[in-house]
Amino acid sequence: MARFDSEDIAQQIVRWVSCESPSRDIAAVNRMQDIVEADLAAPGIEISRIAGGDGKADVVMGRAGPANNQPPVLVLSHIDTVHPIGTIERDLPIRREGERLYGPGTLDMKGGAVMGLAAFRAAVADDALRRPIIYMFTPDEEIGAIHSRGLIEQMAQGVGHVLVTEPARPGGRVVTARRGSGRFDVHLRGIPAHSGSGQDVGRSAIREAAHQILRIEAAADRDRGISVTVGLMKGGTASNTIPEHAWFNVDFRITHPEDAERMEALVRGLEPVDPDVEITVEGCITRPPYQKSPEIAALHARVQEIGSELGLPLDELPLAGGGSDGNFTAAMGIPTMDGLGIEGAGAHTLDEHAIITSVGLRTELMYRLLTRL
Ligand SMILES: [Zn+2]
Repeated sequence: MARFDSEDIAQQIVRWVSCESPSRDIAAVNRMQDIVEADLAAPGIEISRIAGGDGKADVVMGRAGPANNQPPVLVLSHIDTVHPIGTIERDLPIRREGERLYGPGTLDMKGGAVMGLAAFRAAVADDALRRPIIYMFTPDEEIGAIHSRGLIEQMAQGVGHVLVTEPARPGGRVVTARRGSGRFDVHLRGIPAHSGSGQDVGRSAIREAAHQILRIEAAADRDRGISVTVGLMKGGTASNTIPEHAWFNVDFRITHPEDAERMEALVRGLEPVDPDVEITVEGCITRPPYQKSPEIAALHARVQEIGSELGLPLDELPLAGGGSDGNFTAAMGIPTMDGLGIEGAGAHTLDEHAIITSVGLRTELMYRLLTRL
């Protein structure tokens, strides 16, 4: 008889998804962490909860396994979602449609987190772990891990490898490389004036923003895997006023680590076309690129070997466009395997759903990875 039942796990996922946890709602995310903490509680698992305090949500960790001198394994799951409170009442009700389970975070990534936790608990109960496991449930992946990045990097020190339960890719594929990203806010301040009588004194912040947006977006380089998007902008106060203020936001994605500094310098070094307009820039490289190293290739080969026993090919996605907490550990040089979570589609949208049929099997995969890698 199979160790994990897809229907049982689907019910756990429904329970987790019912507790909505958008990243910036600290009380909601902490309520979700209460559930994680309760579900982790079992003989042999040492639980710690690191209080976020002051506008930050908590991190919950479970540790288990033999206290031998084997390097530990770090498992990463995030329990925040992009969906606001009330999504389950209005736009994305939790429901089953055949093999699909709809709901906010079913795919990204409460599904994978539930699977990871179920596999971890079972491995501890069976006394099957060969090395120490540190399982981290983080509260802020969807906002770039702005609070928990330091702790992730601290816990990753000295581990042998990292497993990340982000969603599986189409065809059940796993992730061995991800682009890095940066996010910046550019503020422009000109000189306000009446649009009729003030043309000589006014300096338009919006006009300057237009120049700078074209300049920044021109830095995109398809061949090098660099994309640059100004996705948000704002400015002005009235149609008959030369605008004093404008603001826009820059999102860039990079494939090569050496492009990180160059792109950051470009945004930070923007020179105004109109010298009377002031430009200030805030932001940073939120995630370094996650490049496939020979060590990651070796880890992937072992994962595939174990997957093949279960009939799972676990091919890799050549390069995922979005980042994850795995970017931090991969950039530290630690072999990192991502995309081990649930299958489905529609992440971050109102069509988000997980495919339930493969859940038992992929949880079994997680169990074997935890106990044999
Ligand atoms: Zn995610």
